[in-house]
Amino acid sequence: MAKAVSKDREARIEAVRKFMADSGIDGLVVDSWQNVFYLSGFSGFGDATLLVTPASLCIITDSRYYVQAEEQAGDFELVKGHCRDLNLMKGLVAREGCRTVGFENLAVRYNAYENYYTKLEAELKPIGNFFLTQRRVKTPEEIARVEAACDLASEALVKTLPYVKPGVTEIEVAARLEYEMRKLGADKPSFETIIASGVRGSMPHGTATAKVIEKGDGVTIDFGAFYKGMCSDMTRTVFVGEPSAKLREIYGIVKEAQEAAIDGYKPGMKGGDLDRIARDVIVSGGYGDFFGHGLGHGVGIDIHEDVPVSTGSELVLTPGMVFSIEPGIYVPDLGGVRIEDLVTIEDGKLRRVTKSPTTELTVL
Ligand code: ZN
Ligand code: ZN
Repeated sequence: MAKAVSKDREARIEAVRKFMADSGIDGLVVDSWQNVFYLSGFSGFGDATLLVTPASLCIITDSRYYVQAEEQAGDFELVKGHCRDLNLMKGLVAREGCRTVGFENLAVRYNAYENYYTKLEAELKPIGNFFLTQRRVKTPEEIARVEAACDLASEALVKTLPYVKPGVTEIEVAARLEYEMRKLGADKPSFETIIASGVRGSMPHGTATAKVIEKGDGVTIDFGAFYKGMCSDMTRTVFVGEPSAKLREIYGIVKEAQEAAIDGYKPGMKGGDLDRIARDVIVSGGYGDFFGHGLGHGVGIDIHEDVPVSTGSELVLTPGMVFSIEPGIYVPDLGGVRIEDLVTIEDGKLRRVTKSPTTELTVL
């Protein structure tokens, strides 16, 4: 029984079919979990393959997922079997009369290419960055789901902060945070939680270790929830007891850099332009050599999507894009501060999708 399909998903399938027609593709095999989910709504991640043709939609999955596939992807014909069964796909390609089959060359592994795709008895055509480009611009429904993931993560942080104190390890803080997110309904963390305390704060991607948090430490917490198929991504640096004057100065500059970028956005700006606004603040504060990464990146089904907000990015930022603004300063042997929020473009302005406050916070 075919189920009603969301307008969003109908539009995505229409866009795929238009792309196929324009590129001379009459069959598209999709097997990355992200794009399977994007097109079909199926969330048995990694266990389904799609075939899209001008007239048909097929989802191949096995008995663990029959009910789920009918519920989530009711507009797709359920083809029962293993998602990587070559003969099954060969049969479908023949049945549909596909001559030119598109494949996700950015996601397909070499072995799969050799042993599966090249054996499909059709001409193969890489689809390049089609999905990356499509997924850059979100619908209001998608933005609402990112926002819900952000709200959940913000609430988990509030519940976790009382546990951030001297004597507790970084891993304990990470575990608490992930526990709180799960309790609030998250499927999982959207990436490995980063907890970098004290001098470890100078490592932008310092995942949690057994290091014990000490009085006076800055603790950089970078984390996210994966919720209803969307990621959140947020960073706060909190101080355990009074920070040194230097750390406090750094916090002020990072906060100012983030606000300058968010307030300074103008329609038509490119990713590189926004990066420069924040970078200029950090350079004039005297810490230009200590901000080594880009200002931001796209977020959606993946924690890093293709909206580069970094030096030299020529991508024009447009409404519907959701991306992070995450300036940071990392000083070896001292520590670091990063403040990260997600934003989207609405009415010609950047709107914060993350609502958690960015004011300097001391816990003890
Ligand atoms: Zn982050
Ligand atoms: Zn990020």
